[in-house]
Amino acid sequence: MVQNLLKATVVTALVVALSQIFSFSIRLASGQPFTAFVFLMNSIMPVLTGFPISLYIFIQNAKLKKTTDELTEANRLLQIRADTDSMTGLLNRNAFLGTIKQLNKSSRLSALLVIDADNFKKINDIYGHQAGDKALTAIVDALRLPLRQCDIIGRIGGEEFAVFLPDTDINPALKIAEQLRCAVESIEFHPAEEQDYQLSISIGLAFSAGAHTTSQLMRMADQSLYQAKANGRNQIVINQESLTSNTKSLDSMDAA
Ligand code: GH3
Ligand code: MG
Ligand code: MG
Repeated sequence: MVQNLLKATVVTALVVALSQIFSFSIRLASGQPFTAFVFLMNSIMPVLTGFPISLYIFIQNAKLKKTTDELTEANRLLQIRADTDSMTGLLNRNAFLGTIKQLNKSSRLSALLVIDADNFKKINDIYGHQAGDKALTAIVDALRLPLRQCDIIGRIGGEEFAVFLPDTDINPALKIAEQLRCAVESIEFHPAEEQDYQLSISIGLAFSAGAHTTSQLMRMADQSLYQAKANGRNQIVINQESLTSNTKSLDSMDAA
């Protein structure tokens, strides 16, 4: 309010000054005297009209700005809520796929990991859904640790996650995948008092150098995840099709 009063005072002072200058110039040019009465009228009229009008405009402007700021903040929070999985705080499937769509356009090699918790249904069946939720949270905490700031992680299904490693070569990607697998394997999970349960994940790993769409990449990583499950779980399988096709496109880029 003080700020609005100050602004209105400044505007009024300006209007008074301008009105005096105009009145003085016109009276001077027409040879009329510039009396104290004229000076007083030139001051009173702008104060009586200009001050309340400008104060009203400044107050309305401040209210409008406050409402706009509140709306912008509410929109930001709504967007975060729409993009986030409420249980884990990770990006949900749509937000994850939307985010990696942009990153996947890079012509440098990037990796996509599709991760699925092994035998998860058993935890729910034996210890109940609450224990399952606890296991899921523990897995997410473990998955976050080895990741770099640039990596994107999302929950793309019930006990299924995906990680996108931008601009990452085969060996570093494999190393991160192995760190993720080990991190989950090392969780000391107690589904009930004095009960231990060995958690593990299987990972399908596919590579892209801008030649594959995100859905092609997801399909290839999914195929390898299926293979990892069939091979006995708790392991990583690299998608060979994505490797050979990307090696070809990288080679042709090098040759050009
Ligand atoms: P696999 O190793 O082949 O992946 O076996 P799985 O048991 O993990 O796979 P399946 O698809 O048979 O079962 C997945 C289970 O994960 C079933 C579902 O109830 C459970 N699940 C999915 N989301 C949640 C969740 O948010 N909380 C809990 N507690 N369970 C969940
Ligand atoms: Mg599973
Ligand atoms: Mg699953």
